[in-house]
Amino acid sequence: MFENGSEQIEPRSGNAQLDRALAQTLAKLSKTFDVLPGFAYYRDNGRPNALATPEVRLQRTDGTVLFGLEMLQMLLQRPEHPDASIVAVCAHEFGHIVGYKTRLIEKLAPNRRDPFRAEQHADYIAGFFAGMRKLERSDFPAIVFATTQQSFGGTLRGSHGTGQERGEAVLEGFKAAYERKVTPAEGIQLGFQYAMTRK
Ligand SMILES: [Zn+2]
Repeated sequence: MFENGSEQIEPRSGNAQLDRALAQTLAKLSKTFDVLPGFAYYRDNGRPNALATPEVRLQRTDGTVLFGLEMLQMLLQRPEHPDASIVAVCAHEFGHIVGYKTRLIEKLAPNRRDPFRAEQHADYIAGFFAGMRKLERSDFPAIVFATTQQSFGGTLRGSHGTGQERGEAVLEGFKAAYERKVTPAEGIQLGFQYAMTRK
């Protein structure tokens, strides 16, 4: 989503246990997709959001992921697997970082005002990560990735696509990892091809 460079950044959420668990997941995301963005929370006052930018704001090489503190609280209140829904949002944002680093973004969203295919790619990558986690741990609640992204899509086409389109992209990415067991590098390319066929 959008950033304007003036977000008020917070290094911690106030929940040390959550921050520790998330740091482990972020390290896993970095390793899986070969990207190293900075990560922090920010004050998303009244507009729950998370975002990824190619801009280096936290002394890491591959851009920055910012997670809104209100977004975090909103997800923590979900009755089913709030932790997995937070990971789903992070994985989507890392998907954007992958798009920037590989420069696939130039083809996915040549016009910044129409980010739909870039969003589909990020959702595919989020689903791919869920598939990898489920291969590691069969009880991993991968389905939460689809329902989380779906819940942020509407019934009308917005910039991120409808809930259904978002859920489908997550599922395709999931299947590439979990059923076809392709490598993350291949998954990134397959996700690109998938997104480019979407209109
Ligand atoms: Zn996005």
